[in-house]
Amino acid sequence: MTQSVGPVHFLLVDDLEENLLSLEALLAREDIVLLKARSGDQALELLLQHDVALALLDVQMPNMDGFELAEFMRGNERTRHIPIIFVTAGTADSQRRFRGYEAGAVDFIQKPIEPDILRSKAEVFFDLYRQRQLVSAQRDELAAATLALREADRRKDEFLAVLGHELRNPVAALLAGFHLMQKKRDDPARLEAIHEQMDRQLSHLSRLIEDLLDISRISEGKISLRTERVELSTILQSAIEASGPKLEAAGHDFSADVPDGPVWLDVDHTRIAQVISNLLNNAAKYTPPGGKVRLSAVPCECCIDIIVEDNGVGIPAEMQPRIFQIFTQVDDHREFASGGIGVGLALVSQLVALHGGAIAVASEGAGKGSRFTVSLPLSKG
Ligand code: ADP
Repeated sequence: MTQSVGPVHFLLVDDLEENLLSLEALLAREDIVLLKARSGDQALELLLQHDVALALLDVQMPNMDGFELAEFMRGNERTRHIPIIFVTAGTADSQRRFRGYEAGAVDFIQKPIEPDILRSKAEVFFDLYRQRQLVSAQRDELAAATLALREADRRKDEFLAVLGHELRNPVAALLAGFHLMQKKRDDPARLEAIHEQMDRQLSHLSRLIEDLLDISRISEGKISLRTERVELSTILQSAIEASGPKLEAAGHDFSADVPDGPVWLDVDHTRIAQVISNLLNNAAKYTPPGGKVRLSAVPCECCIDIIVEDNGVGIPAEMQPRIFQIFTQVDDHREFASGGIGVGLALVSQLVALHGGAIAVASEGAGKGSRFTVSLPLSKG
């Protein structure tokens, strides 16, 4: 944990400038800010502006004396607990005049001041204050960590609920298909249709499970990339082949625009093709039929930007920063998700990061289309 604590302030109050100067000379330290006041009123003003670890009050001052000032301090919630050291020329008897001992620490120091005694008393209050600052900084950090844990726990519960629900549908469909197949044994055409449906459900299920396993392998550091020197167009070709049927089925106008010359990358061909195909599948899903989907690649100085853009439902600005977190879905998009549960983009961004690349999303909002840009380093070979 990192603790950030502010400076420690001491308040010095004395009506005589030379006394303030000698107190200042005695207490000056790099980690302490000394606030000086020539009267009770000035002191109260400074107390409004600063948190103070210790107040050193001269008892004998004209107008408001040290005891009166201390009583004001004890009467105010903000300054009630500030430790006070009275600087007095009087006897122990006069010390009884002060009534406010119950709220905060009170101590007395006699004039002429003995430097070592003053310094060691001040040191005690300095340490106490620092410790309190650390404890409260730690408490804030703990509170923030607890909040983050609660949020992670809530998202995990939500995920389990969504996962259970999403798995139930294909499993129920498979079960129904299985029973139907037994009943329709004599109807080959019907059997074929049921078979195809079951095949689709099964491949959806197994893709979902593979994605979830990949994510957990990445987070446990157990995924190994088969990195090789590959030419970009072969990767894009694989992705287009994998996503072509989905783009066609939705009747989208698909175009690909790749650089003329060869672009070499050191990547895992299968994984990067999976990334691009995932983005193309999303573009196909989240664009109403007959839309436009474009794949392009733009070389930069030491990287290549691979861009997948569509003119579909778009992503609201407030969701864009979270869109690569696992299980994040835009509420209004569920009808387009076709069984997706918000795992794809999380996997995509982790795979890109594993390759030393980055992914970004841009969309002007609902109905305005989306653009995903994957930047990958060029081969050094
Ligand atoms: P899902 O399985 O829900 O599609 P993803 O992780 O692939 O999961 O995507 C997360 C969410 O991002 C989607 O549910 C959808 O709301 C939004 N999204 C992804 N791609 C697009 C896109 N091309 N256009 C609009 N929204 C998108």
